[in-house]
Amino acid sequence: MKAVPADGRILRENDRLAAGLREAFEQRGLLCVNLISAPGSGKTSLLERTLTALPAGTRAAVLTGDIQTDNDARRIARAGFPVKQISTGGICHLDAAMVTRALDDWNLDDIDVLFIENVGNLVCPTSFDLGEHAKIVLLSVTEGEDKPEKYPGIYRRAELLLITKTDLLPHVDFDVARARGLAQHVHPGIRQILVSSRTGEGMDEWLTWLATRRTRAALASAEVPE
Ligand code: MG
Ligand code: ZN
Repeated sequence: MKAVPADGRILRENDRLAAGLREAFEQRGLLCVNLISAPGSGKTSLLERTLTALPAGTRAAVLTGDIQTDNDARRIARAGFPVKQISTGGICHLDAAMVTRALDDWNLDDIDVLFIENVGNLVCPTSFDLGEHAKIVLLSVTEGEDKPEKYPGIYRRAELLLITKTDLLPHVDFDVARARGLAQHVHPGIRQILVSSRTGEGMDEWLTWLATRRTRAALASAEVPE
């Protein structure tokens, strides 16, 4: 892994491209969310469940970043929405140039919600703006509950924490209250939702969050001068 975030030039160029993406999303009222977590936190499972539960008629699309394989894209494609794999070829994060290229042959006018599943990594995806409306961090109950303390950067920048795989709580030694407290300490006011892609716990709350953000994005686009 290269220590890319230390390079200010690369980040400035990324910010320039991200601004272009953000403008394209905002003009259309397209909601874009960037899902970030460690490997194995359940991003793909959450997306599978979310796509099948979206309100009828929602035009969703997914970009999924993976260092090597396209397994996640194939899983997500089963939900019947457009999905594109971004193979980073060893790079441990997505950047705005990769997203720009991936969106090149999609018509953004046909998309209401764009989900970006970032590469499983809690460090550099934090620094790379993809033009998204919100970063969302996932923490599964199979991980250490001290992740907010160990990786404060992503917890500070994320608007929403999804504590995932809560169906496994009876079988693991994960202190939900402590995890929530640490997240709140690192980022006071961070929204937190407990979800299980298996049982559906928390899905209503998560879908309501998405719907609220979609409405906000649509209203904001109505205010963008032509
Ligand atoms: Mg995945
Ligand atoms: Zn990286």
